[in-house]
Amino acid sequence: MLTASSSKASENGKSMTNQYDVIVIGAGPGGASAAALLAKKGKRVLLVDKNKKAGGRMMTLQRDGFSFELFPINCVPTDHSRFETLLDELGLQDQVERVSADSIGVLMYEDEHGVTRSWDMGDSTLALFKTLGVPWWNLPALYRTLRFLGKVSTLKADEIEKLYAVSAMDYVDQFEIPKGIRTYFLASFGEGAFEMTSDRTSAAEAVKLFQEAMKNGGGRYYSKGIGHVFEVCAGAVENLGGTVLMKTRAGSIDVENGRVTGITTVNGEQYFSPLVISSAGIRQTVIKLVGEEHYDQKYVEWVSGLESNLACAGYRWVLNKPVLKTPMTIYFPEGCVATFDEFEEMAAGKIKPSNSYIYLGTTSLYQGMAPQGKQLVYAVMSCLPDPELDIQPYLDYVRDRVRKIMPEVLDCIELEETVGPANVPGLGNDAIFPGQGGESYGLALSVGQAGNVLLGGDSPIDGLYYVGCDAGGSGLGTNQAVDSALNVTKMVLGEGEG
Ligand SMILES: Cc1cc2nc3c(=O)[nH]c(=O)nc-3n(C[C@H](O)[C@H](O)[C@H](O)COP(=O)(O)OP(=O)(O)OC[C@H]3O[C@@H](n4cnc5c(N)ncnc54)[C@H](O)[C@@H]3O)c2cc1C
Repeated sequence: MLTASSSKASENGKSMTNQYDVIVIGAGPGGASAAALLAKKGKRVLLVDKNKKAGGRMMTLQRDGFSFELFPINCVPTDHSRFETLLDELGLQDQVERVSADSIGVLMYEDEHGVTRSWDMGDSTLALFKTLGVPWWNLPALYRTLRFLGKVSTLKADEIEKLYAVSAMDYVDQFEIPKGIRTYFLASFGEGAFEMTSDRTSAAEAVKLFQEAMKNGGGRYYSKGIGHVFEVCAGAVENLGGTVLMKTRAGSIDVENGRVTGITTVNGEQYFSPLVISSAGIRQTVIKLVGEEHYDQKYVEWVSGLESNLACAGYRWVLNKPVLKTPMTIYFPEGCVATFDEFEEMAAGKIKPSNSYIYLGTTSLYQGMAPQGKQLVYAVMSCLPDPELDIQPYLDYVRDRVRKIMPEVLDCIELEETVGPANVPGLGNDAIFPGQGGESYGLALSVGQAGNVLLGGDSPIDGLYYVGCDAGGSGLGTNQAVDSALNVTKMVLGEGEG
């Protein structure tokens, strides 16, 4: 791939070397997918990214025989994901190998009496009920549980549509289900999946994901890492005649008379195009790259007030022997379903993390991802996305709980690194507002930001589109970003709104 210094920027403005049909900012999951899809359609594409390689927040790195992402990763759904559609459309199925483990994971539930039981995620619903302590002898409680699960499994699209304006927590609490089932549903399909507290996550998104995971499974990964998928997409851009400039930061999106004309890099190189698609984040794009003066003030205020996802804080450990037997171990102590206010209190130091759910993950079980006999493990909990957040209380809690539920992990640590909101802007989008920047996905799929009010990929500036987790897609994390790319490129190509 080219870097900015080796590109052929013209000295006197527009020339064939720096004129493109489309410029895409960002080679993360959203941008790399969109750029490849447009190149496949015959467009002359320029893809620029400030990082050294594609993948964005989910870039795969290589070190000491490990291939790994900076943060824990599991893709949902297993089958029929938007990745499949993307790779089919690009004809790249043979360059990307999907891999799976014998078992996706284990759920550990600690009840209110401090008793912890485990459920293998492939095991029966009855076994799940036992783990979650559903009182089978209490017929009304059992009835309410079955009624709830029956309802969320069978809700039709038009009924789900009505739940965009309701939070997952409010929706679930109407059913008065036993604590264990409530905790499982809200922690797994609210905060755990959407990186937003259940009192804010849209119930429609939670129900959709539940149905999808039941139907198509809940674990997916790729040989050579998730970031490899987007390296392949960036490679496809070049193979299809486009240009990829890594280590190239867009400094501005240039606009004349309400219409995009191209971009200027921070080094002053100009590239011209009537179409710019930005995955730099909608707020970053509007405020920093385009500039407020090009928008109606009301739009700027609306964009500035959009709600971010939560972030993760915890550890990345290299273990001197494989300890985790499955890619995911999720620990839910009863009462772990926190509200947004509680996360704010934790961030302000008013309360300490003391009852959150913990995600223990490893991708080292997949072939070629770790040296023989070693394992790389993540142990994290959610937190606010503030890069300035003091993560020490979260680290203390995570270590304390790992000591309780899987002490062997702590005995085998060879190397310890911490991860938190401060690590995200380096790989992903810039932090431009106080308290923002470390979010896991981007903007939250919360009440008021999902469904028919979901941000589309279009913008008030002619020729400017947004792609990635901030706009135009739904689903969990990378699947949402790829969904956005598939939808936004259709919009750009005038093939309908996806
Ligand atoms: C802690 C954590 C855990 C996660 N867990 C999961 C998970 O389990 N499953 C899952 O599916 N997803 C997970 N994700 C989410 C996943 O990483 C995101 O959904 C995905 O990366 C979003 O893709 P994107 O293209 O929208 O943005 P990004 O990945 O942020 O990509 C944006 C790209 O734009 C580039 N860029 C930004 N500004 C500029 C500029 N001015 N000039 C040039 N380039 C620029 C960045 O360098 C970056 O490469 C997790 C993320 C984190 C942080």
